[in-house]
Amino acid sequence: VKARGKNDFQLFTPQMQQEFHRKVMIEKQLQTALVNEEFELYYQPIMDLKTNEMIGMESLIRWNNKTLGQVPPDEFISIAEETGLIIPIGHWVLNTAIEQNAHWQKTTNQPIYVSINVSVRQLLDPTFLEKLKNTIETTSLHPSQIVLEITESIAMYAETTIEKIAELKKLGITLSMDDFGTGYSSLSYLTKYPLDSLKIDKSFAINMHRNDENKAIIQTIIAIAKEFNLKVIAEGVEEQETCHFLAEIGCDYAQGYHFSPPLPASEFQEKWL
Ligand code: C2E
Ligand code: CA
Ligand code: CA
Ligand code: CA
Repeated sequence: VKARGKNDFQLFTPQMQQEFHRKVMIEKQLQTALVNEEFELYYQPIMDLKTNEMIGMESLIRWNNKTLGQVPPDEFISIAEETGLIIPIGHWVLNTAIEQNAHWQKTTNQPIYVSINVSVRQLLDPTFLEKLKNTIETTSLHPSQIVLEITESIAMYAETTIEKIAELKKLGITLSMDDFGTGYSSLSYLTKYPLDSLKIDKSFAINMHRNDENKAIIQTIIAIAKEFNLKVIAEGVEEQETCHFLAEIGCDYAQGYHFSPPLPASEFQEKWL
């Protein structure tokens, strides 16, 4: 066997090749996923920890492709962002979630809100606001029943996003900072954006009652939220003990498998409305 010299390294391992191939496949299949109606929205309840009632639900995209099977959003959303496909996909998500909630409001008379994930790339799209306004008009869903979940990455595009977010706020839309506690940016954006709530990243709540460090982080986040007059939502709540502790330390809302996994619309309606 030939000994490997200093410059004789393998650039692509078989595993890297496989990953690259899958990424190319996802990119290719994503192009036609919308027209083939391969996307579906699931809904997960968000609970008030004081009353134990559902106050809203988060819409979460699912992709079922003939060739690739079920592809998790953590795998394809970043690719959709890179290719720009997140613009039409995100538009479809907004329309579908808002239409669905408008329908549920009419049939059930329950004032629950729908919380929708929005990529920064989507927010930067110059037609974003106009499209959203149109959807709100045609469905006549009250804007207060719409929550947009954004991430800390908006702070990197402050020039554009501060103005956009202010306009969303003027429309009466509620704004939530997702994955709070995982970003590396300074917290100064908390004073620059008119947020309504913080969602504590699920990595902190999972196993929380067995992990003192995570407990301390959650307590700190709640203290920050109170300081800025923001509501706090914990996600990834899988156990009853976690619920008790969260309620005790003043967390307002919770979401997670303990209450329900994300469900298809029909099942969600059956179980929760
Ligand atoms: P996220 O916004 O942080 O959503 C929460 C994720 O945690 C969801 O994963 C949800 O199914 C999962 N989850 C809920 N409860 C629990 C729990 O108790 N334990 C654990 N371990 N996990 C729980 P999902 O649906 O796979 O989505 C992953 C990510 O993909 C989302 O994270 C979000 O960043 C992105 N995503 C999902 N739907 C959309 C969408 O419509 N648009 C955009 N731009 N991104 C989306
Ligand atoms: Ca989210
Ligand atoms: Ca999150
Ligand atoms: Ca996320």
